[in-house]
Amino acid sequence: GGFRQLSTTIPISAEPEPSFQRQNATLVFLARNTDLRDVLTSMSNLERRYNHKYLYPWVFLNDEEFTNEFKGRVLLETNAPVYFGLIPKEHWVQPAWIDEDKAEESRKRLKGQNIIYGDSSSYRNMCRFNSGYFFQHPLLQQFKYYWRIEPNVDYFCDMNYDPFQYLNQNNRTYGFTIALYETSETVTTLWDSVKEFMANYPQYISNDNAMELLSNDGGQTYNMCHFWSNFEIADMDFWRSEAYRKFFNFLDAKGGFYYERWGDAPVHSIAAALFLPKHKLHFFQDIGYRHAVYQHCPSSDESLGNSCSCHRWNSIGKYTNRLNSTSKSLTLL
Ligand code: GDP
Ligand code: MN
Repeated sequence: GGFRQLSTTIPISAEPEPSFQRQNATLVFLARNTDLRDVLTSMSNLERRYNHKYLYPWVFLNDEEFTNEFKGRVLLETNAPVYFGLIPKEHWVQPAWIDEDKAEESRKRLKGQNIIYGDSSSYRNMCRFNSGYFFQHPLLQQFKYYWRIEPNVDYFCDMNYDPFQYLNQNNRTYGFTIALYETSETVTTLWDSVKEFMANYPQYISNDNAMELLSNDGGQTYNMCHFWSNFEIADMDFWRSEAYRKFFNFLDAKGGFYYERWGDAPVHSIAAALFLPKHKLHFFQDIGYRHAVYQHCPSSDESLGNSCSCHRWNSIGKYTNRLNSTSKSLTLL
């Protein structure tokens, strides 16, 4: 310890706006004990910009027991309830039916291609857990909506409304702020599996789906576009639905979480774009957010007043030419 003053950072609780209606929702944070410093950064950012007013409970999940130091420090960052959960082994570790030789070959291949986390088994466990298991955790059973939080992220703007309430009142299922292109080497055969699933289970595909977000040729090939899942504000009942559970099990059985490095971002995005009518997806364009080197900063007409500590010119997609997938999802939705 000793790297940080004991917290004096909890903002004084404020009253939510009179129209506020509390939702059955939680802030979900998967983390390792070693992530503590960056966990506190994200927490204090979100508490200051949002949760000191709404006091939604936090749920921390880990594949190992959280240390007392971790729990103690986290509790100092919020006045809201906090739960700490251990992930069951069978929801985390590489299943016994995975051919370890093939998995190892994949780790070597992706490492040789200089793919980020290419040689990591634990990263693959994490991606599979976020794809198919987090919403099954006992601590999350009581909740419908979740906001996914990651270490060392920024929320740039004061929130003057509750995004959970927004989803509920507008009948939306999945909310995002940033869309990006996936590293194609990590999902070489994912789209083949998706096409096979669509052929086997046409009943799950929405008539008003967002295929045009995923494919530029009517579904022949995947264009690598996905919602960046380190930020998600969504309805867990969608992941708990028959369509999604079948989809996850179908993909899981292909082994691609280990024989390639399928991410939860493309898996979630493909499901949301295909199984939901597109009006159930929502671009939270008024939420300023940064994870690693990419950020979304609302422009003045999108933002909630003048509280944003970011510059819209740094936003990905909309105002830069680096990528245009966020603007693509914008025009579509
Ligand atoms: P990136 O955002 O893709 O670069 O990956 P991160 O390292 O941020 O990991 C994504 C999320 O999973 C973060 O919330 C991490 O704290 C968490 N995470 C990654 N690996 C592990 C792990 O082995 N154990 C636990 N408990 N959490 C992990
Ligand atoms: Mn991250």
